[in-house]
Amino acid sequence: MKHIPLSIPHLSGQEIRYVTEALETNWVAPLGPNVEAFEAAMKTYSGAAATLATSSGTAAIHLALATLGVTAGDDVFCQSLTFIASTNPICYVGARPVLIDSETETWNMSPVALRRAMIQAATRGRLPKAVIVVHLYGVVAKIEEIAAICEEYDVPLIEDAAESLGSTVNGRMTGTFGTFGIYSFNGNKIITTSGGGMLVSNDTSLIERAFYLATQARQPVLHYEHTEVGFNYRMSNVSAGIGRGQLEVIEERVEARRTIFNRYVRAFDTVDASHYQQEIEGSRANRWLTALTLPGGMEQRDLLIQQLQQKNIEARPAWKPMHLQPVYRDVPYITANEEDVSRRLFEEGICLPSASQMSFTDQALVIRFVRQGLVEDVRRNVQL
Ligand SMILES: *Cc1c(COP(=O)(O)O)cnc(C)c1O
Repeated sequence: MKHIPLSIPHLSGQEIRYVTEALETNWVAPLGPNVEAFEAAMKTYSGAAATLATSSGTAAIHLALATLGVTAGDDVFCQSLTFIASTNPICYVGARPVLIDSETETWNMSPVALRRAMIQAATRGRLPKAVIVVHLYGVVAKIEEIAAICEEYDVPLIEDAAESLGSTVNGRMTGTFGTFGIYSFNGNKIITTSGGGMLVSNDTSLIERAFYLATQARQPVLHYEHTEVGFNYRMSNVSAGIGRGQLEVIEERVEARRTIFNRYVRAFDTVDASHYQQEIEGSRANRWLTALTLPGGMEQRDLLIQQLQQKNIEARPAWKPMHLQPVYRDVPYITANEEDVSRRLFEEGICLPSASQMSFTDQALVIRFVRQGLVEDVRRNVQL
């Protein structure tokens, strides 16, 4: 039985040219022409004023927090419904995460919950040092509202755009609305460098400071002089070569993933549109992964994933929110009202195979089995 993966690297064929160049010119060591060219290409593509290639997306978030001077005793607000890499860097700098619930339209940070959290924090005289918002599965958060709230309270915004490269609002790229944006080029993302990330900002001086911290905080003198603790967080010239070849086809990859999403929506005609993540007005989602909540809830979700597994089809539950993770059980969690939205999205949410090279026939197979699962569930419920 053929394996149908959730998401895997999809090479353009151009990567080998840049990687070979790096090998032939002995530019294997960190940095070099591919890194510079990849940073320049990402600047053009994202529209951000400055870019810094990093060893991972996680490292880019850590650098963003360190550059902003976030430190022990500080609070950082972070979307709860996300992959743990959004939240962990808050602990790396010794700060405390305060987790914020999602809204049901985009599944991202609820502006209502964010405002509530800000009001509470202001009352206590303990405003956060940063807010981390995520564009989950490539679907754009209510970013303009969120940015406005952050501006009102004068709190820097970090956009975790790890999953949303190519997603836009009125033509503007996600990752460029906040003080910092980060992208990930991990192997499962929409494009990859085999492993890597990018920190971007419209403030060039902030990227200069981040560059300094990412290269062991070395003073600009002849000998090795250090006045601060830095990191070794830069991308290698070989990885950046892969990134250059990948970035050339990003728009094709976005189109492919969007087509896959639209096919699923059309095929599951018994599933109401409200079960999918929605695009807010003027936005374009890259639809990195097609995610939906199943009408039958968690039980149906888990059963379906197991059924698909038996057919060698990889589907996954939606991210388990950070406030439900044992490692973060003691941190505050703020919702818009009595409802815990991100818990429900996790319990009912499923991600379906969305690799950009998935064939029409393979997707038809996935659709058939998912439909079968949905129908079987209806039958079971009727018998009960
Ligand atoms: C993948 C991912 C990251 C981390 O990126 P890495 O390059 O794997 O370190 C951060 N946040 C989110 C939401 C992600 O999906």
